[in-house]
Amino acid sequence: MFTWLVGVAVLEQTSKSSQQYFQMISKDSQLIKLLEYLVSKKSGELQPAFDIVTGYHYPDVVSALSVTPKESLEIVKRLVAMGAATEEYTEQVIRCPYCNSEYTTVRFHCPFCNSKRLSKEVLIEHKPDGAIAPVSKYVKGDKKMVCPVCNKPLVEEGKDYRAVGVWYSCMSCGKQFDTPKNTYLCLGCGKDFSTPELIISFVNKIVVKKEVMDDFFKQYFVLQPVTDLLVQLGFNCQSPGLIAGKSGYTHTFNIVAKDGGGKTYAIDFVKSESYVEESSVLALFAKVLDTKPDQAYLICIPGITEGGKRFAAMYNIKVVEGGTMAEVISKMKVQLSGQPGPAAGSVLESEAAEPGTSKPIEGKSEITPPEATGGAEPSVGTASVGAPTGKPQKSGSRLF
Ligand SMILES: [Zn+2]
Ligand SMILES: [Zn+2]
Ligand SMILES: [Zn+2]
Repeated sequence: MFTWLVGVAVLEQTSKSSQQYFQMISKDSQLIKLLEYLVSKKSGELQPAFDIVTGYHYPDVVSALSVTPKESLEIVKRLVAMGAATEEYTEQVIRCPYCNSEYTTVRFHCPFCNSKRLSKEVLIEHKPDGAIAPVSKYVKGDKKMVCPVCNKPLVEEGKDYRAVGVWYSCMSCGKQFDTPKNTYLCLGCGKDFSTPELIISFVNKIVVKKEVMDDFFKQYFVLQPVTDLLVQLGFNCQSPGLIAGKSGYTHTFNIVAKDGGGKTYAIDFVKSESYVEESSVLALFAKVLDTKPDQAYLICIPGITEGGKRFAAMYNIKVVEGGTMAEVISKMKVQLSGQPGPAAGSVLESEAAEPGTSKPIEGKSEITPPEATGGAEPSVGTASVGAPTGKPQKSGSRLF
């Protein structure tokens, strides 16, 4: 009886911090749902919106999670508080200092008697003689405009006359002024407050960090379904998984799996906008050469170039291609069930995990916590095999 250790290694090293974000997010079912939604939208941004009934809120969160507008604010706060997202200024909001309501209205007062009975008029300048007066002084009974100083008719705005400002008249004390006093009325609690008392707050756009989005996609949509499959097939999995190399370095793979007999599988995952290139195969080979797993897999989404395939065949790395995770899982099942060991013929009827339907991380106690992944990044002597170093492979790592 063989023990299989199946290792799925990711070529692009995930930073420790983004793995920690995933650990935190994976404990919060609402945040998982929200990130699933953002991945499906290929966007890491949440725009605020104002509604006269509900106030400021995040409509995407409301619809994706079926929560109230108020709850949407609390949910995005959790993302920001854990450092997985940042806030970007979108709008200024004036709030009531008594009840914090954002439903406020401005009122203009006479600066002399405090009355709110004000009339506002546009001031018109008659250019030929420089006369300036409120528009009502220019309007005669027949609605033609005539200068109150020189009595000549006004001809065309912008040519012989223009608007030069506004003028307020107090209908209580009769005084005139150009700047009224402002106060505010809270429509929530009904209290008045002045400009010095009001609270200025911001409504922000929420931007989930790219590394958090990328890591969530990788962990949740790819590694977790693959790990689930391996566990179903009887493997003992670690993700990320570590294997000590002959060089003395410990190498990190996306998944490392074993069975009771001690065979080891190393599995890496690469996603590319088009096709995964040779460099990804070489990077995996550099680690494989040092760690000698019994079999190495490279999962390529959506596929791999012909050159990549040739290299993989040359280095005995099995390539699993797929445009969707269902396809990848289905091909992995075929590959793994063809192997001797506990996997053979077992649990093949289990459903492949589809993006958006896979379960949160509970029940996956085999998964190595991110703290355990601080192993040295491989610095394999690649000269002997003509392979590039195990540096992160950029072209295959962009999700958006
Ligand atoms: Zn005039
Ligand atoms: Zn007044
Ligand atoms: Zn109030």
